[in-house]
Amino acid sequence: MAVLTDETVQNITSPINGEILDTTRLYKGSELDAYVQRAKNAYKAWGGLTLRERAQFMYRYRELMIARCDELAQLVHQENGKTLGEARAEVEKSIEVTEFACSLPQIAKGDQSEVSRGVFCQQSIESLGVVANITPSNFPHMVPHWTLAISITLGNTLIIKPSERVPLSMLKSLELLKEAGLPEDVVQVLPGRQDLVEAICDHPDIKAVSFVGSTKVAQIVYQRCSQNLKRVIGLGGAKNHILVLPDAHTQMSATNIAASMTGCAGQRCMAASVMVGVNKVDHIISSLIEECKKIIPGENLGAIISKDAKARIETYIQEAIDQGATCVLDGRNPQVEGKEGGYYVGPTILDNVRPDMALAKEEVFGPVLAIIRTESLEDAIEIENNSEYGNGAAIFTQSGPLAKKVAQELSAGMIGVNIGVPVPREPYSFGGWNDSKFGVGDITGESSIGFWTQLKKTTTKWNPEAQINWMS
Ligand code: NAD
Repeated sequence: MAVLTDETVQNITSPINGEILDTTRLYKGSELDAYVQRAKNAYKAWGGLTLRERAQFMYRYRELMIARCDELAQLVHQENGKTLGEARAEVEKSIEVTEFACSLPQIAKGDQSEVSRGVFCQQSIESLGVVANITPSNFPHMVPHWTLAISITLGNTLIIKPSERVPLSMLKSLELLKEAGLPEDVVQVLPGRQDLVEAICDHPDIKAVSFVGSTKVAQIVYQRCSQNLKRVIGLGGAKNHILVLPDAHTQMSATNIAASMTGCAGQRCMAASVMVGVNKVDHIISSLIEECKKIIPGENLGAIISKDAKARIETYIQEAIDQGATCVLDGRNPQVEGKEGGYYVGPTILDNVRPDMALAKEEVFGPVLAIIRTESLEDAIEIENNSEYGNGAAIFTQSGPLAKKVAQELSAGMIGVNIGVPVPREPYSFGGWNDSKFGVGDITGESSIGFWTQLKKTTTKWNPEAQINWMS
């Protein structure tokens, strides 16, 4: 296929083999207003439905996602490069969040009570209007769905700006939403670049923005929206630590840590990135290396999103080796038969990493684990606490009291005890701490309801004979 030069059209390259998969239209910031106006028009009717009526669309959409899960997963696999199994799990998570949205009529029901005799206060949960969602390349389907189902079921109309690298599965989902009967323009999917993001932050009729991506861009979006007095939540990057104690179950720790560091080729904001080994944990590291050797690029290990991202990961590995780390498993430049044009890095483990190295501090976003050795649990906790990020963290031990102490002291929003990827399931919410999240509340679960809505408090008096007091 010819390389397109029109700046409003972009080729989508599959990381699996480096071949062009499709093309997508790119929307410009200057075009945004027309789509916001469409979303505003759609809001007039959509916002007027009851919560229960809106949830019915989500029931139908859920059924369609289940029926077309394989098709959606294929698209995610092709556009992002993760394995087909991982892509299916991603779509299943989109379905789970949609199920949570179906339960909103039971949860977001408001409140009322008699605050003084004959006087009632009613608190109702109201939508905001037009809202927007800006999403990253590593979960092309799930991350937009964190926002989609919840924000529109609560009555808003939504503009999604997916990562321009991976728009295909969300564009397909738009077709499914139409098939589910969702009225026109309740959800619009506009792939675009920086200028479109800036226009979203600046548009006065967009009432709230959720962003998920790197910390650098999360900060830009958070600041720009805040400057425009717009409600915003920004989820950023991560550097997740796993503390391993010598009494941890060897095999369980090895399989969990291997899966955490290599799942989605390490391109997850919940991936294990640093293992802090406390005292004698060599037996666990040996098992971990053996587990990682079973994870083969192009088979049960997916691709890296781009050529540049692959080169960046390799630079981190080489720099750490040059600074004295021991490479105990080197996954660089694997041969992937039949997919030679793809971007792959095999599982890589570096031991004796120091906390001051870039590999120990920065988000690598690849299937790479840095092992830092410590002699005390206090030092291990301090290493984790010193991280600028705070998305996830975990402790592996068989001691309940120690696990409890560590879980209390880790500085991260999502904690695992003997779990390598401690992603909360619905209705518990997803969101980190520190530089992994900017804003109040979380992006899914009950915590997200407040973000997408505003409270109306109506005080009513029906007993004219009651005396006036200063409150009523
Ligand atoms: P990214 O920050 O490069 O891009 C995210 C979005 O921002 C995309 O839609 C992109 O088009 C847009 N964008 C990029 N640069 C921009 C700029 N200068 N100004 C305005 N908009 C810009 O992130 P990515 O590489 O697509 O995704 C990977 C990152 O996302 C990792 O850091 C990962 O940890 C993070 N992530 C975090 C979570 C979380 O829940 N905390 C979840 C998934 C991914």
